[in-house]
Amino acid sequence: MHAEAQRRREGEVRGYQFDFRCYRRRFLQPLVTSHGIWHTREGIIVCLGNCGYGEIAPISWFGSETLEQALDFCRQLPVEVTEEMIFSIPDNLPACQFGFESALGGMGSGEKKQNSSPLPPAPCPPASLLPSGEGALNQWKALWKQGYRTFKWKIGVDAISRELEIFDLLTRTLPPAAKLRLDANGGLSYEEAKLWLGTCDDISANIEFLEQPLPVEQFSAMLELSAVFKTAIALDESVATLQQLKHCFEKGWRGIFVIKPGIAGSPSRLRDFCQQHQIDAVFSSVFETEIGRQAALQLAAELSQQNRAVGFGINHFLDV
Ligand code: MG
Repeated sequence: MHAEAQRRREGEVRGYQFDFRCYRRRFLQPLVTSHGIWHTREGIIVCLGNCGYGEIAPISWFGSETLEQALDFCRQLPVEVTEEMIFSIPDNLPACQFGFESALGGMGSGEKKQNSSPLPPAPCPPASLLPSGEGALNQWKALWKQGYRTFKWKIGVDAISRELEIFDLLTRTLPPAAKLRLDANGGLSYEEAKLWLGTCDDISANIEFLEQPLPVEQFSAMLELSAVFKTAIALDESVATLQQLKHCFEKGWRGIFVIKPGIAGSPSRLRDFCQQHQIDAVFSSVFETEIGRQAALQLAAELSQQNRAVGFGINHFLDV
């Protein structure tokens, strides 16, 4: 029998020693989005068989389980965990599915073994998150000098008139080679979304896309806007988990999908879906540690289309 298949069978039957611990990391600068202000990232590191590490980094306000639900799941597991248990983690625990499957990857089975092959060279440097509001005007230059060329700016945080003023200044000063992504986190009204998209259509700056202009329940309105304006729309909150992603695809979304592997669910099923449908995906961080980040970047390297920058340029927000 092939060595990996042998290990896999043993894993199903015998089980792997399982351990976990929690972590807390405070952001260097709080993350301000239209969902509120986020100060501390908390998550769980899982370990299988003393060498397979994975990370559970939930964002419950984004659609994953809560940290407490993930902890409850870990606490009720036996000291030995089988592959069968891992592949049966229910869909309402997507961050757990990701954490356990990627830990299994470190064991040489299940998810592709991490670090078994070096990552292919990144097609372009990651997108870098700018501070919200006026802070963006002061920080992009330092990030540009570090090599970043794609920037992301949160909107829907302040009054639209003020944000449009800052946007005007920002797009006039960014170099022509820069790309800008706007992320509303579902915080705009329909009229505001039209105003932003119209403004983006009318300027010469390179606006890569507007991310999640409207709340999740206004899918049809976003589908309609995507047909009317030149500026692309990316769904993010609407496609937080693989189930939601499949649902939006079935309802006709052919724009951009933002995928956060850390909370999307089973990486093996996510890979199957993306490869089958060749969707235009942008991969993004959930402010995880290096353990989750490596597993997420491996997936991004395999599945990114059209040379889109991955959204992992967030180190200036975390002490890493
Ligand atoms: Mg987003």
